[in-house]
Amino acid sequence: MTKEEILQIFADTAYVRTGGSEEEERCANYLVEKCAGMGLAAAIETFPVETATVRRERLTVDGREVTGKGYLCSGSGTVDAPLVYLPNTDPCSRQDCKGKIVLIDGHIGYWQYHELLDSGMVGFITYDGDTHYADRDIDRRELRSYVSKGRKVPGMNINAKDAVELVRAGAGHARIELEQDETETLSRNVVLDLPGRREEYILFTAHYDSTSLSQGAYDNMTGSVGLLAMAEHFARAPHDYGMRFVWCGSEERGLLGSKAYAAAHEEELKKCALNINLDMIGSIMGKFIACVTGEEKLVHYIEYMAAELGWGIEARQGVYSSDSTPLADKGVPAVSFARLAPHNTATIHNRYDTADLLLAERMEADIGFIQTFAGRMANAALCPVGREMPENMKEKLDYYLLRKREKK
Ligand SMILES: [Zn+2]
Repeated sequence: MTKEEILQIFADTAYVRTGGSEEEERCANYLVEKCAGMGLAAAIETFPVETATVRRERLTVDGREVTGKGYLCSGSGTVDAPLVYLPNTDPCSRQDCKGKIVLIDGHIGYWQYHELLDSGMVGFITYDGDTHYADRDIDRRELRSYVSKGRKVPGMNINAKDAVELVRAGAGHARIELEQDETETLSRNVVLDLPGRREEYILFTAHYDSTSLSQGAYDNMTGSVGLLAMAEHFARAPHDYGMRFVWCGSEERGLLGSKAYAAAHEEELKKCALNINLDMIGSIMGKFIACVTGEEKLVHYIEYMAAELGWGIEARQGVYSSDSTPLADKGVPAVSFARLAPHNTATIHNRYDTADLLLAERMEADIGFIQTFAGRMANAALCPVGREMPENMKEKLDYYLLRKREKK
């Protein structure tokens, strides 16, 4: 794939494509066409996802309207209650939230959400954006079903500048009015097979969806382009192991595409020797990393290979917040590759995630390294990566997938 072709794909996909939206479907079709252009037949696999249409959303604080967006799937209704800002949500702080609407920093996590509900929270407000940015953007967030587990109170998301003003003013009383229709729609995975000489195969993944305000160029059209480039390469290069490429939908909504894929293909995953996941590569700035959810030997192999090739890398064992995780949870050893830019040179999940963060030469180089690694695994006399998931990784998977709570 040439630099011009890479840049053209970013130009063609410079639009928001949230999981389950028409734009996500448009991008899935685009990826199928791109494969067809290389003489390869990719297929779309649909899976159901929750969705909601907001009919009415309004946040009033001390009689003044504050611009906000209601949390999708957080239920409908009106709550009128004292407002409290809880920078900490430890047991002592939580004593203060009974019968109140709670303003918290960052995202609302599973354990925190249920603790706040148990302590009597009746509604919640989060904020995003950045007080230093010129925009007043507000992301459309959702209360994920695996977070709410059916316990819903209305939530609003506001801009960071307004959150600061509310706290500065000592805001005392809030009213959330939220009406929404919660339904189901379809999201899509795009699947391409390149059969090898043996039955076992390597599974490549990268998500192509974005969050609500983002073109998702860096996160993660870069990884999607990486998969296209490798599919083009390996369609013409010999490989003993088969290869399957999956462009995942709805990753930004909680890895829904890879979870759906793992559930639908559980039996076939027993023949999967390795998952290679790409999530954010090719940025102008930033370090290259490998995160291995599998045996530690693979970390060392990648480090040795990188040194041999003169490639800078930081490799470690861990659970990556990306599509590799549901596959690793099915026992597939996984490695996620990424180039992580410092936050003051590239931010994601907002309007600033555009192709301006990227360099075609860096894309080519990052893809080149990953392709070399993939080629070695695919042409190994026996792919040496152990299928046994180490205990420390199983434990981390339990934490990430909310089966167990990590003691901080
Ligand atoms: Zn991503």
